[in-house]
Amino acid sequence: MNIDELPLEVITSIFCRLPGKDLAIVAQTCKEFHEASLVEAVWLLKCKEEFGVDAELQEPEVESYRQLYTKVLYPYGHLLGVWQAQRGPYGGLVKIQMTEGMIKAVQYYTPVDPRVYLPIRVKDLFQVRLDPQDGLAHLECLKGKGGPHKLGISRKSSESDPEFTLNCYEPKKHGASMFHDLIMEELDDLTIDEFHVDHLKMKYMKLEEFDSICTFKSLEPPKTVDNMPVKPGIFKGTYGGHGIELIYVTYVGNRMMGMKITGDPNVPATKVSLEVHLDKPMVLDLVQQESVHALEDLDLQIVRPSSEQPQESQPFRLSSEVHDRGMSLLGEETGLDLRRCKQRFYGTGLIAMSGFRDAERTPAHCIIFNEDVMAFLWLKLKSVSIYSRVKEDIWS
Ligand SMILES: [Zn+2]
Repeated sequence: MNIDELPLEVITSIFCRLPGKDLAIVAQTCKEFHEASLVEAVWLLKCKEEFGVDAELQEPEVESYRQLYTKVLYPYGHLLGVWQAQRGPYGGLVKIQMTEGMIKAVQYYTPVDPRVYLPIRVKDLFQVRLDPQDGLAHLECLKGKGGPHKLGISRKSSESDPEFTLNCYEPKKHGASMFHDLIMEELDDLTIDEFHVDHLKMKYMKLEEFDSICTFKSLEPPKTVDNMPVKPGIFKGTYGGHGIELIYVTYVGNRMMGMKITGDPNVPATKVSLEVHLDKPMVLDLVQQESVHALEDLDLQIVRPSSEQPQESQPFRLSSEVHDRGMSLLGEETGLDLRRCKQRFYGTGLIAMSGFRDAERTPAHCIIFNEDVMAFLWLKLKSVSIYSRVKEDIWS
């Protein structure tokens, strides 16, 4: 018996074991195979197995999983995931997922400074949509208010360090009022001052360079670890005049690292802003926290917690000379008691002049309030930043 004489169910079950990319080729070899290749269940399985497509989330938009696989997922499925935008020092966070039968990319942006505890915001960036009229995939830029318009996507093939580049063919559709939009997005009555506006002007000019063409690099989900002060993940942190930036918290050995996903002209995206030495914990009383000078003089050997009596919490205070970048506001508005913290560690924070000149790691304290909130006291700057976990599910 020839293989093409097998019953349709048998051919279909064989097809289910083939990678999707081979199916389309096999389908062209004979009439029976072509017929089997029209069985939707085979393609739904390939969409699910190879690209994690959840059919329930796509209905009723998908008419044909065969078309979805061959026209959208096979050529563009590599885009699915989380990416860091390469926009000079500013960076950016982008999530690309299958939703309602198409590939859709959103860019995340932070709440208005300094309210780090508010939800992260999203903006549509682009989509890859199957047009039922012509049966082709359409790549559309969704930036601005001018409606969807043509977009090019090119991919650099590198397994270890995936990246792709977007090229918008009609950046004029992004609109003329972008600077105004940026101000409205990032500032409110609390922060609309000359200092912030100047920073935003610079940001706007720099971001314009990346408006029509921009490259993205893959960002892997953080690995889970046990017995660490907080779970790894993404945090929103206050960076003074630069506003709120996104930090990717991971662990390397006995260090907690906070890498910038978004950055600023002083310390750009991808640099390690925070480095927390987990082997240098501290338990301080209120007198020891009287001034920055007193904190600088601490002997780390003496302020170590005793290992026999692990402390549940310890007192915390901020001396009045420290510039508060939104920490008290978080306390007032969320009701979090900032007079006690869970843990405190020595660490270093990266500071630099504009253009990342004279960069140096300077002494700092990391103060953990709970799983989702921590502060970073920059001793040299005499200022404190507050970090609040991004709770939205970025990685699913
Ligand atoms: Zn565009």
